[in-house]
Amino acid sequence: MRPQLQRLASAIIEAQRILIITGAGLSADSGLPTYRGLNGLYNGHTDDGVPIEVALSGEMLRSDPALCWKYLAQLGSACLGAQPNAGHQAIAELQALKPECWVLTQNIDGYHRLAGSPEDRLIEIHGELAPLYCRACGLTDERLGERLLQPLPPLCEACGCVLRPPVTLFGERLPTAAVERLYEQLGKGFDLVISVGTSASFPYIAEPLVRARRSGGVTVEVNLALTEVSELADFRLEERALDVFPELLSHITAHNICK
Ligand SMILES: [Zn+2]
Repeated sequence: MRPQLQRLASAIIEAQRILIITGAGLSADSGLPTYRGLNGLYNGHTDDGVPIEVALSGEMLRSDPALCWKYLAQLGSACLGAQPNAGHQAIAELQALKPECWVLTQNIDGYHRLAGSPEDRLIEIHGELAPLYCRACGLTDERLGERLLQPLPPLCEACGCVLRPPVTLFGERLPTAAVERLYEQLGKGFDLVISVGTSASFPYIAEPLVRARRSGGVTVEVNLALTEVSELADFRLEERALDVFPELLSHITAHNICK
């Protein structure tokens, strides 16, 4: 095994409280486009003439739900058409070995849960794409795939209002429960924080790394590109999570067997 990965595996074995922060780069390895990589986008603008951040905003969902849903549907189809990869799976297995290992994700594809990450140690800070729900009457609709094949936007069968996914659209507030959970756990501190496939441009994504660094913890970045937090990382792996995590896991598993 490569020396850097071996040292990192040893640090993970020693650490109790671990936080793995994941972003679009992890799911890109499953073939999922980022919202900036959706069809019909040119330089960040949709063929409807507005930036994608405007198309996928809470304001657009209210004023022109059909336009917002056109792009939500593309995200939905992409998520339903792909699946978790070896990176998601190795992270879930690591959580099984380390009972205080948490995942904080910006991804809305639900792949961590599908890969087996326990829900009580998973924070989906930007929400998720399913189940759809009605803001007016509270009805939930589990049939995302089916609804995407029908005329958009999908309407509530009880009251006729537009359904929406429980995601955080641009301009909307983060889900309160997820934020509270994150800060409750950050308050307890983490010995080791790994940032995976995210540019960490949101403060709540960079903050755990800053805090770990300040309290003498170990910081890690797995990313093909340099980011705003690269200089905070004790370990920087310019590789895909898909390759790094299975390799780390095999080392940690071997150590557990030899113990
Ligand atoms: Zn309704």
